[in-house]
Amino acid sequence: MAEVFVVGHKNPDTDSVCSAISFAYLWNEWKKTRRLDEMMKLDFDAIPAVQGDLNAETKFVLEKFGFDAPKKISDATGKKIALVDHTEKAQSLDNLDRGEIVAIVDHHKIGDITTPNPILFLSLPVGSTATVLKILYDKTGVEVPKNIAGIMLASILSDTVIFKSATTTELDKKVAEELAKIAGIDDLIKFGIEVKSKLSEVKELSAREIVMRDFKDFVMGGKRVGIGQIELLDLSLIENRKDEIYSELVKKKSEGYHSVFLMLTDIMKGGTELMVVTDEPEIVRKAFGKDLEGKSVWLENVMSRKKQVVPPLEKAFS
Ligand code: MG
Ligand code: MG
Ligand code: MG
Repeated sequence: MAEVFVVGHKNPDTDSVCSAISFAYLWNEWKKTRRLDEMMKLDFDAIPAVQGDLNAETKFVLEKFGFDAPKKISDATGKKIALVDHTEKAQSLDNLDRGEIVAIVDHHKIGDITTPNPILFLSLPVGSTATVLKILYDKTGVEVPKNIAGIMLASILSDTVIFKSATTTELDKKVAEELAKIAGIDDLIKFGIEVKSKLSEVKELSAREIVMRDFKDFVMGGKRVGIGQIELLDLSLIENRKDEIYSELVKKKSEGYHSVFLMLTDIMKGGTELMVVTDEPEIVRKAFGKDLEGKSVWLENVMSRKKQVVPPLEKAFS
């Protein structure tokens, strides 16, 4: 074992891929100062990795700033691992307990991953893992290179939906401005729309791909729950495909889920149509105070899975 693989969650999004790259770079630079070594007793090179194919947005971002797609891995057996952007076993590598987790940097609720030893664990309730990493760069004195600043900025804009998501904090905005300066990007919002527009091109995607593109597994009240999300600049882009998408969601549920949800998020309107297939339709009222209208329910001002959909559902299921 001569390396540490830095890896984000399954169904990688821009933040999880770019944070793997940014943390691996930081790790390797930090290592040179010997201060990391003193603390971690780990003289290993960090290598960014991903658990699956990159989406169109992430491909655009990596290409724009001159990065190759990270190496694909799926199993932790015999590996040293640093996790970014998740702490849920269901979203992580296979056989996690047969590898060794040495660090976690995240911005989600703490999941069910535990470690037998003390590790570097840094999590903040902010809009993106990239924001947390910038704090770590500042703290360690490692300078953020121009191209890394670019992908970190893209991660913040992607995860916060250009600062519109309820997860957005003042720290995200401040860090984004600092990174924009380093990356040489003048108009943050314009760049954000350019980034987000890449995943709004759904014409080419099958209904299955729409459901699965950003689908995450959870266990809530002992039940298997899946929640997907698709963020579009304008929801009318998929208006005539909703039946087809719903059928795919029904199929997905039959893979052993108690409930599956698909957030159809309208970035410009700032709300989400939540499509639901469940054994327990009352769960929707319990969680969101509204009944299903047919296949879905409109949730005004809801754009964040982690902050506005997962917590009320977990409460409703418990
Ligand atoms: Mg993510
Ligand atoms: Mg994230
Ligand atoms: Mg996200």
